[in-house]
Amino acid sequence: MNIEKKVLDTIVKYKLFGKKERVFVALSGGKDSTSILYILKKLGYNVEGLMIDLHLGEWSKIHLRNMEEFCSSLKIPFHVVDLKKELGQGICFIKAVLKKKKNLTGCTVCGIIKRWILNKHSKKLGASVLVTGHNLDDEVQNVLMNFLKGNIMLGANSAPSTGTKQSGFVQRVKPLFFIPEDEIRKYSLSKKFKINYDKCPCAFETYRTDTRAWLKVLDLSAKQKLKIVNNFQKVAPKLRSRRVAEGFEIKKCSVCGEPATGIVCNACKIFESFRDDS
Ligand code: AMP
Ligand code: ZN
Repeated sequence: MNIEKKVLDTIVKYKLFGKKERVFVALSGGKDSTSILYILKKLGYNVEGLMIDLHLGEWSKIHLRNMEEFCSSLKIPFHVVDLKKELGQGICFIKAVLKKKKNLTGCTVCGIIKRWILNKHSKKLGASVLVTGHNLDDEVQNVLMNFLKGNIMLGANSAPSTGTKQSGFVQRVKPLFFIPEDEIRKYSLSKKFKINYDKCPCAFETYRTDTRAWLKVLDLSAKQKLKIVNNFQKVAPKLRSRRVAEGFEIKKCSVCGEPATGIVCNACKIFESFRDDS
């Protein structure tokens, strides 16, 4: 089955969104988010692009320019959120301070900030749903990482669709959830998208890169990856029920008003750390 048909099947089966909804695609400038934007446009969905300028030197400039051109060529509205305007600093400064002060390394800081900005701005811009380019390999990594950390509860939200408007989240959806990374790479290359295939220059020596390397050694087939993710899909709803039974609920952050699991959201805890250093 081709990738476009697989995406359509996932959208229909999991009722991700309809043709009239405003579907925002979070664009990193890489192959996954570019491919899903292209496929959704081709399938006739009402798509818009949303990108955060992380100010990661030349890397960000190239990705921004590529996405600007890509969206313009397909007549897709393109929105950019400037991290420096939003938080006063670029991602490198923020990561350096967090490493020094809280020994937080890897992609955690970047992930929390990206999620906070994407949710806040897609909500403000009137998005019905927010699409990300997460694929089958990302999901296999998540299952394994959470298991190795001894906390499979971290995977409770694992699904092609997570977050609800009631809890302050724009519905986040992953139409590439069941599609292996190499299939997306092949698709992107075959379409000759003018994009950059390099890895993020900041993503080194993280738990995820180690897990990815380990999985590469195992050389799992697409069928085996699907089996892992599908099996975990049987467990995830049980984890969500257990979390609710234990009193878990989404609150409003007392500082920014965005969704939080505690009194203050994780993003505001990060902002507090680096604002003292600004
Ligand atoms: P990553 O965490 O870099 O693997 O990215 C996962 C997904 O998050 C991508 O497929 C995009 O949908 C989204 N994303 C990553 N970086 C950005 C960015 N700078 N702006 C908007 N969305 C992003
Ligand atoms: Zn907050």
